[in-house]
Amino acid sequence: MTETRLRFPPSPTGYLHIGGARTALYNWLYAKKNGGKLILRIEDTDAERSTQESIQGILDGLKWLGIDWDEGPYFQTEFESDHEAASKQLLEADKAYKCFCTKEELDVKREAAQKNKTQYGYDGTCRSLSAEEIAEKETAGLPFVVRFKVPDKDGEIGYDDKVLGHIKAQYREIEDFVIVRSTGKPLYLLCNVVDDIRDRISHIIRGSDHMTNTIRQVLLYNALEAPVPVFAHMPLTLDNKKAKISKRKHGEIVAVQFYEEKGFIPWALSNFLVLLGWSPGNDTEFFTQDELIETFSLERINKTNSIFNYQKGNPKFFTDPKAISFNEHYLRTMPIEEIGVMVKPFLEKEDLWDVAYEGEKKEWYLTTLDLIRDRFQVLTDFGDRGRAYFSDEFTVEQKPLKKNVLKHEGLKEWLPMLADRFEALAVYNLETTEQTARDLATELDVKPGVIINGMRTVVTGQLAGPSMFDILMAIGQKRVVARLRDVAKLYEV
Ligand code: GLU
Repeated sequence: MTETRLRFPPSPTGYLHIGGARTALYNWLYAKKNGGKLILRIEDTDAERSTQESIQGILDGLKWLGIDWDEGPYFQTEFESDHEAASKQLLEADKAYKCFCTKEELDVKREAAQKNKTQYGYDGTCRSLSAEEIAEKETAGLPFVVRFKVPDKDGEIGYDDKVLGHIKAQYREIEDFVIVRSTGKPLYLLCNVVDDIRDRISHIIRGSDHMTNTIRQVLLYNALEAPVPVFAHMPLTLDNKKAKISKRKHGEIVAVQFYEEKGFIPWALSNFLVLLGWSPGNDTEFFTQDELIETFSLERINKTNSIFNYQKGNPKFFTDPKAISFNEHYLRTMPIEEIGVMVKPFLEKEDLWDVAYEGEKKEWYLTTLDLIRDRFQVLTDFGDRGRAYFSDEFTVEQKPLKKNVLKHEGLKEWLPMLADRFEALAVYNLETTEQTARDLATELDVKPGVIINGMRTVVTGQLAGPSMFDILMAIGQKRVVARLRDVAKLYEV
């Protein structure tokens, strides 16, 4: 049995796009499911547009997503001699020919076809030049391209696409296409096939935007006497107005790196992306890696385009709300130790790590994360909305400040009173703090809510959050007392 070998061959001309990440994921899942291999090949033959920065970005993005590969990265430019050898082989076998037609000559024919409203295709002028004619033109130094000689026969050529079914074309409809430019450089169409043959690729899962190449590539496989791989062309990802997702139109949200920086959990993004264009056939949305590897199949890739429901609105995330809800799900349900590891770099970035976690504080750190994660959406929230747990320097949000503090002049005295009582507690725990706060409210004849909401705002800076008394435990007696005592400063604006 032949080995299952897949490849992810990005062109390093930009960041890792979420559409590219989805392609990589499908190939990775299929390889894993079938005990196969994933080959990473950087298609860098376009020297003008390929950059080192992009290569690095792609590698980093894949690593961040947890997509590992078995071979590579190979670089297409390392194999230029293979590409040239293949074109030579095709020329020698009379499966390709040199074409000396000039651009001007071709333009005249194209325009004539347009005028007659007939489909233009190369007319084969140079297809049967004699060896002498060719030698003559070459000696005269005339430039030429190499064209593939499409078999001169009736009937059709096709392949069975695992997603779209049988795709075919009439031989007669396919023009003799160029495989080597007049500069001597083989075209991408050919390089891609030559590399896939050398890398013994058995399955090609790629976007349907590449379908325009596939029939011609099948012809090349046949001509090079190599087995044609299994093709599966995936639907494109469009926005809710049916426009292709692009950086120009949608900005940074198309880049995987954006999600990393915004504090997404890699697997949450992967899970979301896999479901953009594939479905398990039931309502299940959340999968572990193993479950997804087990369930994934090419047959269940959707035939219709996927909708990335890009929405402006929440300024923090101009992205599909479903991506956020996937992240919330994982943020709230993953083992807290794993969350702890992922939150670390974000706290470090905010200079909060030492406060949060020093050896023996680990238990406190994890309990605190567990307490506050329920309302958070992304990992950055811990050092941002959750800052008050890790530092005494935090911002008090305007809305709760006005509503829960400034509106109640009395709190200026009441909260310091509460501070004194908390300080005096011999046992500072959930019950004693709650009793103390309620007793004070009764004595003062104010609603407990006024005291509790005021305390929440002063202690955390936030309007909402976990249970107040859990918060008091997480932040600790000393720091709570100091914050309550200091309430007057919030009125000085
Ligand atoms: N280098 C191509 C791209 O980045 C991939 C072509 C293919 O999958 O065959 O779009």
